Amino acid sequence: MSTPLGRRVFLGGTVAALGTTAAIAANTIHGSKSRQSENAPAAGRQLGYELEWLGVNGWKIAFDDVRLLIDPWVTRYFTGTFSPGGQDPNTEIVWNRTIIDDKFSRPVDMVLLTHGHFDHISDVPLIAANTGATVWGTESHLNLVRSLAARTGTALDENKLSLLRGGELRDLGAFTITVLRSVHRPFGKNQIAPVAQSSWQVDPSIRSIKELGEGGSLNYVISNSGASTLMVLGSGDFSVSDLPITCPDAVILPTGGANVAQMVQRFVERVGRPRIVIASHWDNFDLPLNPPVDVGNVPALKAAVADAMPDTRFVIPVPGSPITL
Ligand SMILES: [Zn+2]
Repeated sequence: MSTPLGRRVFLGGTVAALGTTAAIAANTIHGSKSRQSENAPAAGRQLGYELEWLGVNGWKIAFDDVRLLIDPWVTRYFTGTFSPGGQDPNTEIVWNRTIIDDKFSRPVDMVLLTHGHFDHISDVPLIAANTGATVWGTESHLNLVRSLAARTGTALDENKLSLLRGGELRDLGAFTITVLRSVHRPFGKNQIAPVAQSSWQVDPSIRSIKELGEGGSLNYVISNSGASTLMVLGSGDFSVSDLPITCPDAVILPTGGANVAQMVQRFVERVGRPRIVIASHWDNFDLPLNPPVDVGNVPALKAAVADAMPDTRFVIPVPGSPITL
């Protein structure tokens, strides 16, 4: 479906750009410490995946002739989430169609949703319309996509909404996607888990971020034609019993908040030690993506990974720079 050249364009940059932008972002996260080695391809066999981080938990993933998106949200707007006053749940959902059209102008096979919060799902109807992608998610996620499509006047193809419950193994010919039931990580000093508020109806008047409830959480394991596996988590937690017992080659792992060390340890005890861990969902989404501002505590995740998986390569993504696995 895509040539290697087309895939490179899809990922929005060139490998040659990696060194410069990696150095810029390293200054943001680690002062003057160079981080180029962390973005270099892992030693050993190539896994056959190319990734581009879109900010928050948004990813473009290309492998074989497949292009897919995880939780793509690029609009970004002020919600107060990282300010002393905290998040304003009545923040109105908005859409930056210029950025959406710029980032998603080419065909995409599918959008995989991990949950329904605004920073994962708000832009999805517009992206699906632009790209022709099939959208995968729970019944609640898909109802939110329908509501957001109605609110934005976006035509949605009902035949391209794929209902998941968690536990599915989707055999797509040369590759498979396993859907894992999951849980959202708790947050705040009292470690409150968000209520899995579900949407059972389509509401064209949907207006504020509080209306976008979690609606169940899912994680995914992709296995490409070379049988290399890439796991994608949505929020820095997981249902232990629903994790696979086969260790994936690489994991996209959101920063896990205060309990990150325990979270990483529990992951290793169940799954083992993947070769590569890629930090996700760590940037302040109230601010522009570039340069990303770390509010998820990437150093804590890096330390937890170094402790529990000493031979694992830890990758900090850089906006606009492809990561080749
Ligand atoms: Zn999120």
